[in-house]
Amino acid sequence: MRTVEEQLEIVLAEVRRRPPLTVPLDEAHGLTLASDARAASAVPVFDNSAMDGFAVRWADVAGAAPEHPVTLRVVADIPAGSALDPAIAPGEAARIMTGAPTPTVADAIVPFEDTAGGLADSLATVVVQRAPSAQHAHIRRAGADIAADAVVLAAGTLLGARQLAALASAGIAHVDVAPRPRIAIVSTGSELVAPGTPLQRGQIPESNGILLAGLAAEAGAEIVLRRVVDDEGDGPAEAVADARERGADAIVFSGGVSAGAYEVVKQSLEDAMEFTKVAMQPGKPQGFGATADGMLLFGLPGNPVSAAVSFEVFVRPALLRMQGRDTIHRPRRHVPAAVEWRTPPGRRQYLPAVIDRTDPARPTVRPATAGGSGSHLSVGLGGADAYAIVPAETERVSAGDLIEVMEL
Ligand code: AMP
Ligand code: MG
Repeated sequence: MRTVEEQLEIVLAEVRRRPPLTVPLDEAHGLTLASDARAASAVPVFDNSAMDGFAVRWADVAGAAPEHPVTLRVVADIPAGSALDPAIAPGEAARIMTGAPTPTVADAIVPFEDTAGGLADSLATVVVQRAPSAQHAHIRRAGADIAADAVVLAAGTLLGARQLAALASAGIAHVDVAPRPRIAIVSTGSELVAPGTPLQRGQIPESNGILLAGLAAEAGAEIVLRRVVDDEGDGPAEAVADARERGADAIVFSGGVSAGAYEVVKQSLEDAMEFTKVAMQPGKPQGFGATADGMLLFGLPGNPVSAAVSFEVFVRPALLRMQGRDTIHRPRRHVPAAVEWRTPPGRRQYLPAVIDRTDPARPTVRPATAGGSGSHLSVGLGGADAYAIVPAETERVSAGDLIEVMEL
C-alpha cells in the first residue's frame, strides 16, 4: 500500500495551472490572487483627523488645563471630503471632522470633548480645556497602514470580503486572479436514484454528487458537468470525453474503483488511470490519472465518507494548487479525545469527528457517529465538524490521548 503522502505527490505532480485573468474587484470574491497586488495609493492617503474637533498648533494648547483654558479663534471649517488647507496662525484653530485632511500647519487635534462648548457654538471661538496627550495627537498619518506601491496582498491569497476591502482601500480596481478550476463530477452505481424518488428494493438516494460538487465549489471550483452513470457499459469514458469538451481541468468519479465485480470506472478507464491502494481508512482504493492534455482523473471510492475523506486528502489540495493558493492544506491542531475508539491496523484513520467546545478552554474530540468509523454513515458525516487523524501505528485511541484534528 502507498502512503497518503506518496499518493498526494503523484497527484500534485500532474497539476497544471491555467493563465491568470484580470477581473474587477466586484468579480473577484472567492478567487485567488495570481500576482502581488500593489497599492495604487497609500492608506491613509493623506494626514487626517481621527476625531471630530479642532485642528490646532500644538504649541498653542500644550499647556491647556481646566484651571487655565486656552481660547483660540476658529478660522475655517473642514468637513470630510473638503480640499481646504487653511493657514492657521498662532492663536487660531480650524473646526475639523473625522477623516478630513488636517491643515498642513496643524500638528494636533483637540476633540470636541476637550473643549468648553463642544459642537454647539464651535464656529467662532473654541475654549480648549485639556491639552492633547502629545504633539500629533489624533492625527492619522498618511501611509501608516501601507505606502503607495507596497504589496497589499501577495500572490496566492484567497480573496474574501476583508481582502477585497483592503485592496479597494488601496485604490486597486482590478486584480490578476487564477481562473476557477472547471470540474466534472460523475457518480457511478446502478443503485443510485435522485433524492426524493420513491425507492425500489436495492435503490438508494444518490448523495456523492451533491457532496463532491459542493466541496469542489467550496474549494473555488466551477462545476461544468454533473452526471450519474450506471455500472454497465462505458459511461465513465463517455463522461471523460464530455468533460474534455467542456474544458474541464479535472473529473471526479465516485464509486466503481474497488475490488468488486462491477467496478465500472476501473473497467471503463483501465488504460487512462492507475488503480491503487492507499494506507488510509476510509479511502483505501484510489484511482488517479491525467489525460495527455492535463485533465486530472480522480476515481474516489463510493462510500460517502470515503468519498468525502478522499476529496479532502487528494482532490482539494490539487484544486488549491491549480489556483496557486499559498496553503493547500487545512489547519490542524491537537485536541484530547473525549472517549476511546478503535482504529484500523496499518492504515491512517480519518474519522469524522465533533469537537466539543462546551468548555472553550479545553476542547475535546469524539467520533461524529455512534457507529464508529463506518464509511457508509453519510448522515453522521453531516454532523461532523472535523476529521480526527490517527497515525497508522496507533492501535486504539484512549480518552485523554492527544489527537490531531483537521477542522472543516
Ligand atoms: P462502490 O465504491 O461503488 O463499491 O460503492 C460503495 C458503496 O457506496 C455502496 O454501498 C454504494 O451504494 C455507495 N455509493 C456509491 N456511490 C454513491 C453515491 N453517489 N451516493 C450514495 N452512495 C453511493
Ligand atoms: Mg458502485
